[in-house]
Amino acid sequence: MRTSIILVVGLALAVFAAAFSTAQSRTPKTLDIYVVDVEGGNATLFVSPSGEALLIDTGNAGAAAVRDAERIMAAVKDAGLQQINHLITTHWHGDHFGGMAELASRIQIREFIDHGPNVQPAAAADEFLQKTYPQLYAKAKHTIVKPGDKIPVAGLDVRVVTSAGETIKTALPGAGKPNPNCANFKAGENNAEDPQSVGTHITFGKFRTLHLGDLTMNKEFELMCPNDRIGAVDVLLGLHHGQATSNSEVLVHALHPRVAVMNNGTRKGGEPVVMKTVHSSPGLEDLWQLHFSVLSGQEYTVPGMFIANGIDEQQPALPIAPIPAPQPGAAPAPVHNGTAYWIKVSAQQDGSFTVTNTRNGFSKTYRAGL
Ligand SMILES: [Zn+2]
Repeated sequence: MRTSIILVVGLALAVFAAAFSTAQSRTPKTLDIYVVDVEGGNATLFVSPSGEALLIDTGNAGAAAVRDAERIMAAVKDAGLQQINHLITTHWHGDHFGGMAELASRIQIREFIDHGPNVQPAAAADEFLQKTYPQLYAKAKHTIVKPGDKIPVAGLDVRVVTSAGETIKTALPGAGKPNPNCANFKAGENNAEDPQSVGTHITFGKFRTLHLGDLTMNKEFELMCPNDRIGAVDVLLGLHHGQATSNSEVLVHALHPRVAVMNNGTRKGGEPVVMKTVHSSPGLEDLWQLHFSVLSGQEYTVPGMFIANGIDEQQPALPIAPIPAPQPGAAPAPVHNGTAYWIKVSAQQDGSFTVTNTRNGFSKTYRAGL
């Protein structure tokens, strides 16, 4: 009798110990987001806990295409990916689709997703869409998305919220409250393609993030007014490079992001008006940036430890006043051909997440439940 009790207790302990050691050896399953530096273009890579990969945009065209494809590949290798399952091209501007052909020659892309035809005639984009793009998706899948569509990625809920100038008509679960910022909205000016951007909302457990491509202010208003159809997010990604044609309070303040990651360049984005809107956003803990921007100056910049890449034209002292954004046709920023660093967001199912600046190793964890 006694022996059998000891035996049963012993067995139970052994089973418990085995279960415990399995739990210990299992690596944590995270959603990893690489915000790649493509010099004021966009390339944001999502790696789901299942290993499935979604890339939003492929960086710049022309002479920069190889550079940007290589920078995306560095993140692809870091994540241990063998393929890119889904590629969303937000819109047909060269800083968003430019590296696509170079990237596709380096890794298999299984699905090409976009908003449909280019609506802003431009020689480079039109030629790409007529000749190159159909060849790229010929051996893969080509999908034109509309608001409300789901992109199937195991372990994540990936939902299209804007595309081809349309927005979702019904609120996402938990959203839909009146947006008090709508009363103060002032309409903006924009080109034809930015407002066409494919915008994507991604949920992983309790973690929520949003990438709207280069969606401009007037579309932000359509999406967020009179009722906020998105609801709060933990991390707001992209921010149209931090440019003033987007990032209205109607969007940013209503989203209540804890963290924003801006894909700006040294002379693109980070403008004072955007910095004010982001920093006055309720609940914002930190803004992280891909580049130092001279358009911020010392007055508006975030501390260097939140900036992944510096400036290519070192100045003896940082001017306090921001410099005005360059006019169209101005000389381009000096080329940054050295090492480029990404910002990595690693999110847990409980809603907590860690952001890391790979240049200086600075890392900060944002706890769940706030
Ligand atoms: Zn852009």
